[in-house]
Amino acid sequence: MATVAVEMNSLKSREAEISVHKHEVGESSVSVASDEVAEAKAQPNAKRARLQKELTFQDLYENQELLDEDDEEDGDWDPSQLQKCVEVIKWLCKNCTVANINDDVFCRVCGEHKDSKILSLGHFASPFAPDEDLNEIQPTIKGLRDIDPRESAANSSTAIGFDERMLLHAEVEMKPHPHPERPDRLRAIAASLARAGIFPGRCCSIPAREITQEELMMVHSSEHIESVEVTSKLMSSYFTSDTYANEHSACAARLAAGLCADLASAIVSGRAKNGFALVRPPGHHAGVKNVMGFCLHNNAAVAALAAQSAGARKVLILDWDVHHGNGTQEIFEQNNSVLYISLHRHEGGTFYPGTGGAHEVGYMGAEGFCVNIPWSRGGVGDNDYIFAFQHVVLPIASEFAPDFTIISAGFDAARGDPLGGCDITPSGYAQMTHMLNALSGGKMLVILEGGYNLRSISSSATAVIKANPQKRDAEFYHQCGGDGVIEVSYSIC
Ligand SMILES: [Zn+2]
Ligand SMILES: [Zn+2]
Repeated sequence: MATVAVEMNSLKSREAEISVHKHEVGESSVSVASDEVAEAKAQPNAKRARLQKELTFQDLYENQELLDEDDEEDGDWDPSQLQKCVEVIKWLCKNCTVANINDDVFCRVCGEHKDSKILSLGHFASPFAPDEDLNEIQPTIKGLRDIDPRESAANSSTAIGFDERMLLHAEVEMKPHPHPERPDRLRAIAASLARAGIFPGRCCSIPAREITQEELMMVHSSEHIESVEVTSKLMSSYFTSDTYANEHSACAARLAAGLCADLASAIVSGRAKNGFALVRPPGHHAGVKNVMGFCLHNNAAVAALAAQSAGARKVLILDWDVHHGNGTQEIFEQNNSVLYISLHRHEGGTFYPGTGGAHEVGYMGAEGFCVNIPWSRGGVGDNDYIFAFQHVVLPIASEFAPDFTIISAGFDAARGDPLGGCDITPSGYAQMTHMLNALSGGKMLVILEGGYNLRSISSSATAVIKANPQKRDAEFYHQCGGDGVIEVSYSIC
């Protein structure tokens, strides 16, 4: 498993790179690494340390073999290793996008079959299902839009934020390796929720709304907002080599933030019990003035401020994405009305984005309102997270006593994720959600961040929604015909 390493210095220098660079389709775009990668492939150990410090998130992801732990040089010439080096025929895993050598039948990261039909019939498709294209999954997505919000709202306590236009945000340039932050992520989760009868079904949708400039200005600088807006005039553009935009990205980002704001407002005001924002692009790396790490606008930050506008005094943001939410931390590190707690791989600052050490606690009167739980290595799983919840997260969060809880829910710490290298199961995510439910009277909004294994993110997101609070209300329970998974206490209208 690759590790992702970016030094803080290089991060800082990148803050100045918000300017958008237009790229023509077909033009080579990975700016950092082609020479470096070739050099490192020739001299793995000689270049390895420096490479770790210079490559971006995606550069490393696309060249994992450079950094695999079992790739250590033994000094002996080994013909079989040479054979591996010259192997050029690869297949790309449909579930997690990593490249595999042709001899492998199952993906080396997630175990998906080489001939998987996962994209043809949804999350639980058999690897040998007959149909091969994406058309089969489209009716499921269409069903989400056809739902009548008023009718469904009266029968549900959990509100879902989704809009098809967020599927249009996609990398335009044709590269040898697909970008992991891709529209299929939302399609897969939506298909899983539909298959489970959760949505459409037991949950309601809220009408999509694009966030306003005024709302964004409460979180981001005007230069940041303009740098995102200008991408709508370009067919393809890049903020950094791994953070793309197309002509639809600015709209998708406005919708994602708008849905999060409205879900937060609906929950705080009691029109919805809780909510799940099925949104992209993700947001927790986006800071006051920098777009990075696949993130354009900071959806969780926008939601936190919307919750406060609706009456919440104190907001908890719990970030379990495998990467530190450096953007969210930056936005709130001087604000003692928002408690930010993040669990993430850190490894002494060598794991992307490099921030999130335990010593980063907030400042200017907000000391202690930023809590970082940095893992020193990958492979951490349910027991590690539950232990941290019991001994760090819940004691601090309980003392803070939030009026509203936001989960920055990346699912890239899930088992089988190509970037995270951790081991949380769907039941682990459900248990963490359950543990947070008691805080803020169950007023909770879950916002999708990262997560790149389609099967993992689908089963994890579904488990999280199923773990929502179960407020006993006989009448609405009966209306739902429910099994207790999602119950109703309020209506949204
Ligand atoms: Zn895979
Ligand atoms: Zn992440």
